[in-house]
Amino acid sequence: MPSPLRQSFDYLLPDEGIRVAPGARVRVPFGRRELTGVVVAVDHDSTVSPEKLKPLLALLDEEPLIPPHLLSLWQWAAQYYQHPIGEVMHTLMPAGLRSKGNATVKRRKSDTILPPLTPDQPPELNQEQRSAVAAIDASQGKFTCFLLDGVTGSGKTEVYLQAIGRTLELKRQALVLVPEISLTPQTLARFRQRFDVPVAVMHSGLTPRQRLNAWLEAAQGSADIIIGTRSAIFTPLARPGLIIIDEEHDNSFKQQDGFRYSARDLGVMRARREKRPIILGSATPSLESLHNARSGRYTHLHLTMRAGQAQMPRYILVDTNNQRLADGFSDALLDGIRAHLQRGNQVLIFINRRGFAPVLQCQDCGWTAECRHCDARMTLHRFPPHLRCHHCERRDPVNQHCPDCQGKNLYAAGAGTERCEAALQQIFKETPVIRVDRDATRRKDELDNLLTRINQGDPCILVGTQMLAKGHHFPGVTLVGVLDADSGLFSADFRGQEFMAQLLIQVAGRAGRAEQAGEVMIQTRHSTHQNLQTLVTQGYHALAEQLLTERQSVGMPPFGHLAMIRAEAIDALAPARFLDQICQSARQLITSNGLQNTIEVNGPFPAPMERRANRFRQQLLLRSNSRSALQHLLGELCISLDGQNSGRKVRWSIDVDPQDM
Ligand code: ADP
Ligand code: ZN
Ligand code: ZN
Repeated sequence: MPSPLRQSFDYLLPDEGIRVAPGARVRVPFGRRELTGVVVAVDHDSTVSPEKLKPLLALLDEEPLIPPHLLSLWQWAAQYYQHPIGEVMHTLMPAGLRSKGNATVKRRKSDTILPPLTPDQPPELNQEQRSAVAAIDASQGKFTCFLLDGVTGSGKTEVYLQAIGRTLELKRQALVLVPEISLTPQTLARFRQRFDVPVAVMHSGLTPRQRLNAWLEAAQGSADIIIGTRSAIFTPLARPGLIIIDEEHDNSFKQQDGFRYSARDLGVMRARREKRPIILGSATPSLESLHNARSGRYTHLHLTMRAGQAQMPRYILVDTNNQRLADGFSDALLDGIRAHLQRGNQVLIFINRRGFAPVLQCQDCGWTAECRHCDARMTLHRFPPHLRCHHCERRDPVNQHCPDCQGKNLYAAGAGTERCEAALQQIFKETPVIRVDRDATRRKDELDNLLTRINQGDPCILVGTQMLAKGHHFPGVTLVGVLDADSGLFSADFRGQEFMAQLLIQVAGRAGRAEQAGEVMIQTRHSTHQNLQTLVTQGYHALAEQLLTERQSVGMPPFGHLAMIRAEAIDALAPARFLDQICQSARQLITSNGLQNTIEVNGPFPAPMERRANRFRQQLLLRSNSRSALQHLLGELCISLDGQNSGRKVRWSIDVDPQDM
């Protein structure tokens, strides 16, 4: 039942003769209302006394809507991520099935699919691709987890396509998960162009009806390929065949609020239950997946060379110490841009910051514009002019004079995408400068229009955030410039170095993906930083090895396991008070379970940004080398948390395997 309680509820079958299968929906009385629930089990016994049991009102599905192995995965996930099973099911089911709705596909005219495309011809695979495809083929029909570890542009997608081809021949379905920002029409076109089969697409931008249709087409088997973002991992498949998680290291596979699951980890669990192969693909695998491959749990497939004629790009570190930068650009980078444009090529400038400038400051007294609701500065935007907080979306007009000293010398410090765009357009007057960030692509189709324009191939400069960094294939780009690598080098997060390395390699991977060799220029004030040096001279895997050694020595993931309990409230002191109680309960449970040497409790301490959107935030970290001990403790702790009077004022949540600290 859609309830915040961590339990299922018992009901009577109205008639002994009725057959009710787990996974079917039923209508039942719930409190004073009538609601839809999902049958999880049918039994002869109940802990509720017979006269108190209420009968079901109606059976909505003759056949189970959710197949048994998937139902058990949902239950497992609810338990592992410590989220109430009823809420899990409620969030996982398309809205149209949460009420009495019929499980049938209905289409509007506007929903009709793209005219059929003429199938393209697969290229001839190189040796490494061939052995990868052969290994996956040999595993059709049984569980194996493959880590497809291939440098950017090595033809991983081509390996997916050929593995899917074999899956389709076996009359089975393929489920492909991609990061949120790379589910573009270009991505879809690549799959649709190869196979003349129905493809169902699932992402957050669908209408409830479109979502329901896609779900049912997958569940009933009329779609052969299902491509989606994170939540698609829970879609039932009539004929499961192959699961692919592209860019498996990507953060967007972890849900960051409510039911905080990892679609990648659940994908592996699902494949195991369905006895089917799964491919995790990346040029920069997560340390978790590398560790699993090293220990033999995953089969490691390598693509070490770029496909076709393309070469790996060359790295150049540009030390910006003691250099005067013009709007963030060094002379060396500007010269590089000029040279590549003169050869008729495209240039991509990466800067992970939207807006015009991150700081509006008073030159006279040092005042800076800060958000009234967050521990953060307001970002100055130019189009249209306003100050905006990127953490709570608060907007303010731009100050004309300093509120502290009334001085008129306010200046914009630092650079964001808008400033880079303006500066480059000023210098390279003849060349189009195309900005690609969340602000420039707010309207539907805008990103796609920009990508189409870029792929026409005329010389241009792209300025963009992460949105440009991942997955895209830009054959015309030969120079990638990273404006500032330093914010990633000194992150407080224990995953900071891993994220920095992944992002740099992914951005760099946009350079030189066709015939012409690529260059990557990285501006930094710390060109001798050891990790940065390792990354650019020896590559991602060398750095990953070092990071794994560090993680092992401190027992952090993938060697140790974490759970974070977060609390927030408008009252500044309430969250820490609440977590202090939880901390005590946790310590008592640890002692009573004899886990003193197995589980550590750290905190409570303030979240990295303590106040956000007017709420104060604290966190408590649990760490253990034993996943099962941690799971056991969390289960008991949840019961105590549920019973704890947090006051209505404190909101709390548990994050198992947290990504961000
Ligand atoms: P990745 O997914 O690893 O980044 P892609 O699959 O996008 O790489 O491949 C990069 C480019 O190389 C694409 O244009 C693709 O069509 C091409 N390609 C892939 N495999 C081959 C091959 N065996 N021969 C020639 N071109 C290939
Ligand atoms: Zn001032
Ligand atoms: Zn704010």
